Amino acid sequence: MTAVSARAAGPADLRERPGVPIRLEGLTRRYGSVLALDGLDLDIAGGEFLALLGPSGCGKTTALRAIAGFERPDAGRVLLDGRDITDVPASKRDMGMVFQAYSLFPNLTVAENVAFGLRVRRRPRSEQTARAAELLELVGLADRGARYPHQLSGGQQQRVALARALAVAPQVLLLDEPLSALDAQVRVQLREEIRRIQLELGITTVFVTHDQAEALSVADRVGVLRSGRLEQVATPDELYERPVTAFVAEFVGTMNRVPAQPAGGDVELLGVRRPLAGGAAPSGRVVALVRPEALVVTADPTGPGRVVTRTFSGASTRVLVALPDGVEVRVDVASATSGDLVPGTPVSVTPADRPVLVVPAGSEDGGR
Ligand code: ADP
Ligand code: MG
Repeated sequence: MTAVSARAAGPADLRERPGVPIRLEGLTRRYGSVLALDGLDLDIAGGEFLALLGPSGCGKTTALRAIAGFERPDAGRVLLDGRDITDVPASKRDMGMVFQAYSLFPNLTVAENVAFGLRVRRRPRSEQTARAAELLELVGLADRGARYPHQLSGGQQQRVALARALAVAPQVLLLDEPLSALDAQVRVQLREEIRRIQLELGITTVFVTHDQAEALSVADRVGVLRSGRLEQVATPDELYERPVTAFVAEFVGTMNRVPAQPAGGDVELLGVRRPLAGGAAPSGRVVALVRPEALVVTADPTGPGRVVTRTFSGASTRVLVALPDGVEVRVDVASATSGDLVPGTPVSVTPADRPVLVVPAGSEDGGR
């Protein structure tokens, strides 16, 4: 994962307004019997890049639209820089938004698209032109101003949409799955680009996505949303290393479910004892949640497992192992040492010597 962390020096005139904090308090939104937002509380720091992550239908777009003012919550408040803006219409909120689908005006040139918000605000023509040029430069499309949207690739169109959202120097940037219509490679490039620009401008940003790798790679913090509520808000590494619920554990990254038995303050799994992560085990039957890199697989003629597949991915290789009783686990090994783990090889699998997270067995609430 590549997180762009350097805070680059930004163009001074683009940075005229430093990021402002946003606070969501008990946001609730109902559509008939569907509770799209269920008392959502969230504090976003000024200049922070926050990703809202969750499966389809969990309320991400509704939350973003509530921040933007397109959606009136049934209850709760939206505060911008400490000011209650819940009743302020979207047109007066001073936020820039980028949507999933390319939403450029097809009959306007790229430069006219970028300047659109300034035109609506009746700013002088010279300012519109200068600002459009400046923003197109920022998104790497300085030479495309005279083109029309259909003459650009999808990734370029989303850059234009980003430039358009930023042209009016909004206080907040809102992005609703802006990369999901793009190819994998363009997606990775553009997310790094968005992060670079966000750091340059220091603008408070909320980035909605269902793609956990995307969220973890660009955001300062990630809020995992489930059924209109936040399960956890944390930095990417904290979310990955210390998920507070089984849902978060299994939605973020790959997670194995391994049969386990509580044993005093420990847990027994795969024939060994390990300390419990996060306090006491739940009562009743449990399973252990173990990351692929927290398992060790070794070729072993008397081992209980069999290699099913081996998937090369550069420095590491993922080995799928079938264990007795229909249990399958994914194990990551250094590619350089995976040579003898061909399909069919008998192996043993043990958990690395670190605390193990357990959840009640049968809590199939992983979301995937
Ligand atoms: P996400 O963006 O995470 O996929 P949404 O915020 O779009 O989720 O939707 C959350 C829930 O609210 C879903 O169950 C969705 O079907 C429902 N919903 C959203 N917008 C409307 C609407 N305008 N009318 C009825 N139901 C809606
Ligand atoms: Mg959505």
